[in-house]
Amino acid sequence: MPKREPKAHETSGVSEVIPGRAERDMVALGVTVAAIILFVHTGGSAVPQAIRAMAGLGIGPDRLLTNALLLNIALVIFGWRRYDELRGEVRERRRAEAQARLLAETDPLTGCLNRRSLGPTTDRLIAQARERGEVAAFLMIDLDNFKQINDSQGHSTGDRVLELCASRIQAAIPQDALVARLGGDEFACVIAFDPRHPDRVDRMAGDVITSVAQPIEQDGVQAQVTLSMGITRSDLPSRHGDRNDGAPCDAAMLLHLADMAMYEAKKQGRNRHLWFEPSMERELRYRSDLEAGIRAGIARDEFVPFYEQQIDLVTGDLSGFEMLARWQSPSLGLIGPEVFIPIAEEIGVIADLSECLIRQALRDAREWDPRLTLSVNISPVQLRDPWFAQKLLKLLVEANFPPSRLDIEITETCLHENIAGVHALITSLKNQGISVSLDDFGTGYSSLAQLRSLPFDRIKIDRSFVTDMGENSDSQTIVETITSLGAGLGLPITAEGIENPAVLEQLKTLGEFKGQGYLYGRPQPAEQIRSLLDERRLLATEPSPADATDPASQAPDTTNGGADARRRA
Ligand code: C2E
Ligand code: CA
Ligand code: CA
Repeated sequence: MPKREPKAHETSGVSEVIPGRAERDMVALGVTVAAIILFVHTGGSAVPQAIRAMAGLGIGPDRLLTNALLLNIALVIFGWRRYDELRGEVRERRRAEAQARLLAETDPLTGCLNRRSLGPTTDRLIAQARERGEVAAFLMIDLDNFKQINDSQGHSTGDRVLELCASRIQAAIPQDALVARLGGDEFACVIAFDPRHPDRVDRMAGDVITSVAQPIEQDGVQAQVTLSMGITRSDLPSRHGDRNDGAPCDAAMLLHLADMAMYEAKKQGRNRHLWFEPSMERELRYRSDLEAGIRAGIARDEFVPFYEQQIDLVTGDLSGFEMLARWQSPSLGLIGPEVFIPIAEEIGVIADLSECLIRQALRDAREWDPRLTLSVNISPVQLRDPWFAQKLLKLLVEANFPPSRLDIEITETCLHENIAGVHALITSLKNQGISVSLDDFGTGYSSLAQLRSLPFDRIKIDRSFVTDMGENSDSQTIVETITSLGAGLGLPITAEGIENPAVLEQLKTLGEFKGQGYLYGRPQPAEQIRSLLDERRLLATEPSPADATDPASQAPDTTNGGADARRRA
């Protein structure tokens, strides 16, 4: 791509060329001037004498004077040449300085401005636009799927794609607009526009999006990228940012606001542009407060296990509990897992969070009748940890809890990520005597082959099918199909989301299930579960079997899939 020439407002006012030492070196010029004055003086006496001598009217110039004159001529020539050389040096130095400045202010790959120079150039553009009664639109651009291209096709293809995107962006906006590459696959444009016609900016943004999304087929590179864009304008008062002085936005604030709008455009499905709105800032602040609250909450033990009953539908007996996480936030109240689990996964604290919940749950469950099982949900992020099975075993050993009473629930969507890894993990858990259930079955489109190849102990039918079985014939068909699939594979089934006796009766006609749902009560904290078990005489009366044995005896059983551990319990 041809490298761009800097535009008028892009030359950095900061780094005007400072005269070099050579320029200040006036000695050579002084010598030349002195030599010329001396030359005029000595020449003024010597030359007329010489002319008169040639005409035979007198003797020639004095020998000393002749020598002085010759020396003068030599000095003039020397001085002039030195002065000329110095001028050449200054020219060369200026050129090199301009080149260095260009390199410092532009991105070497695309020739666009870089992050450092974007600030001052944007501020200058805003000032110039204001003089014409215009304002600046700041467009923050992030390519949506660039990382994939870089990872799958290599960095030189990635570089080529970035160059092409930059030239497409430049071609879609006015000549005098600024384009900068902020790093990676992030670009920014600054465009002056008539504040009465923001629709023109919308049109340009649309052109940029359409143009960049054209398939790339050039020099052996085949790719297609989309982009997400956030836009803001310089006439917003800066109270929308961290400052509250009502002054118009500067470049740094524009970037901050446009970045928030870009983040929102990504969240809304990518490949689109959105203007900044103050609600975005509130949402982001709420989100960052949540993140900070979750981190602090883990350290302060604010996350607690609640328990939902699991019933054997054939006998009507309580068979165990599913542990469901809750956050007792001092500022927000009791928060459900669908709010904090995805954030904990994203910010990389899910393993710590889960570990402290499982530790508490094992402590609680040791007080229950040893026939009661404990099911815990595990995030796909934790399944990627090759040490997960070992960490879980350590928790069991620390709590003296028999592995055979523990059931791990893995959601069906995990299976698409890394089937070989999941297979190894399930095998390893089962070798320790832990059972593994496939959760939310019916929502993840796993294939029959996948189901057969993975040694699950149980399938849990997703609650969305069970809850409305009575009214929705499709749901009923799905539950029936999953039931016969389970029977075919020899896998027992749990139906979740049983909310009323009608659904319970319907399920009983289909087969032998375990079940759970609001019909049996909402998830409850440990103390309430303890009272419930006390009433039903289902608290542990004697030390659990694990207490009676050495913790080392709970070590993984790698020979028989944990059958012994199950028998021990
Ligand atoms: P899940 O594993 O499918 O858990 C069942 C969810 O359905 C629970 O919501 C439970 O309160 C709710 N539920 C139970 N019975 C009924 C019913 O009859 N009707 C209806 N409509 N809902 C019912 P909850 O506690 O909000 O949990 C939501 C999800 O959060 C869980 O879905 C699970 O995937 C995840 N989760 C909960 N605790 C943890 C945890 O410790 N770690 C991880 N990774 N995920 C967790
Ligand atoms: Ca579950
Ligand atoms: Ca479920």
